[in-house]
Amino acid sequence: LLEINHMKKSFGEVEVLKDISMKVEEGEVFGIIGPSGSGKSTLLRCATGLETPDSGEIHYNGTFGLVFQNFNLFPHFSVLKNIVDAPLRVQKRNKEEVYKEARELLKKMGLADKENAYPFQLSGGQQQRVSIARALAMKPDILFFDEPTSALDPELTGEILKVIKDLAAEHMTMVIVTHEMNFAKNVSNHIIFMDGGVIALQGTPEEVFGSDNERMKEFLGKFA
Ligand code: ATP
Ligand code: MG
Repeated sequence: LLEINHMKKSFGEVEVLKDISMKVEEGEVFGIIGPSGSGKSTLLRCATGLETPDSGEIHYNGTFGLVFQNFNLFPHFSVLKNIVDAPLRVQKRNKEEVYKEARELLKKMGLADKENAYPFQLSGGQQQRVSIARALAMKPDILFFDEPTSALDPELTGEILKVIKDLAAEHMTMVIVTHEMNFAKNVSNHIIFMDGGVIALQGTPEEVFGSDNERMKEFLGKFA
């Protein structure tokens, strides 16, 4: 569904991505882990076109949705308006249909009673669920998450992880950068471990978490 070949990206003198190649299959949950500064966000930003890679190829011709760490909702729009905005304005879809689907998504996220609220009136977990609903409203082929829970308290983290797990059960294709190791292990089909701008290790969760790779063991040690 998404294939990246030999992608490189530098900021000034610093090469942040060094020859990244990866392949995301349809219906798969693709986990990205690795130390701070290893290039995970840059990889997502290049893959989704928010940043232009210096070289390499990206093969992808679907729609994608993005969910960020700090929610990035429009503060002056109500919850419902946040969700319908892109489908109406960007995708120019039918208004009635878009509103109907937006309300269904809010119901699915447990936020049916919040459609007229503004982001500042919601908890962090609720805001993140709105931002997931907003991404889903575009009917993406792939949903990209960059540390969706790292701005949240532990209880709120659980509710977001549950939403992502439910989407995985519906075979939504997802690429997820996360520092939640248990979650990455339990929900991913395929994991890459980024270190210093390269994919240092990849495979099934069993392969990656069971690896003898010294850098991986050192990285996991920080969570023990
Ligand atoms: P974290 O886990 O802390 O989010 P990360 O793996 O997502 O880290 P990136 O945000 O991709 O790391 O950053 C990788 C490196 O690229 C860092 O050294 C960072 O300072 C640098 N970098 C990222 N974006 C830019 C930018 N726009 N301009 C200059 N340097 C950047
Ligand atoms: Mg990051």
